[in-house]
Amino acid sequence: MYLLYVDESGEPSNTNEDYFILGGVSIYENNAYFVSETFDRVQEKWFPGQTTPIEFHASKIRNRNEEPWRSMRREQCQNVLLDLCDAIVSTSPKALSLFGVAIHKSSFPSDNPVEKAFHELCGHFDEFIGQSNINSHRDKNRGLLILDSSKYKGHLDVLLLEYMKYGGTKFGRVKNFADAPVFANSKTTRLIQAADLVAYAIYRRYEESDARLLDRIIGRFQRVDKKIHGLMHLISGFRSCTCPACLSRQ
Ligand SMILES: [Zn+2]
Repeated sequence: MYLLYVDESGEPSNTNEDYFILGGVSIYENNAYFVSETFDRVQEKWFPGQTTPIEFHASKIRNRNEEPWRSMRREQCQNVLLDLCDAIVSTSPKALSLFGVAIHKSSFPSDNPVEKAFHELCGHFDEFIGQSNINSHRDKNRGLLILDSSKYKGHLDVLLLEYMKYGGTKFGRVKNFADAPVFANSKTTRLIQAADLVAYAIYRRYEESDARLLDRIIGRFQRVDKKIHGLMHLISGFRSCTCPACLSRQ
């Protein structure tokens, strides 16, 4: 089974922000342990001997308002984020693919940004599983979405109810999901922390024009040949956009 850990960045109703972001980390079920281990190694590098897991929450690391980040210098915190990006990249390409949606909210004034972004993400993940099933001689795989329990209860409740009621048909093209999405705790699940980092890297690129984090992981977004299917930039003027996702589609 393919698991897709999903997290968000940006506040859908905040008019001071142009973007709402979803980020996702897809891994084959047997490989979840290896991704967790790479994040544990980053903790061991920066906090040697600390046995209690430290939650890597990207915006908290950058903003340095809370310990342990408050006591660290700004460049050290940036290097922690870059190390976490490298931890994601160090995982075997066969084991891990990244997904993300950056929705420019004012380009779609009549759409709910959470709903639109979520449907796009589900559609592309579903297509990815369908394609890998065509290329595989093994039993057909299914997909499962895993969301951060602390954030999603609120934004996605209505969508999840629809999912349960209509058996997923409201999610458009979804054909390969095993079940409705489930929730996990970001404090204890390294993969949710990885999805948070992916969402934050996309947010920094599109909202703040800071590509340092996204550039580090861009090669791991799901792609076919040169087309980056895994990263979607939804904006009205996408044909003239020069971001990696739009450029790869031109
Ligand atoms: Zn673009």
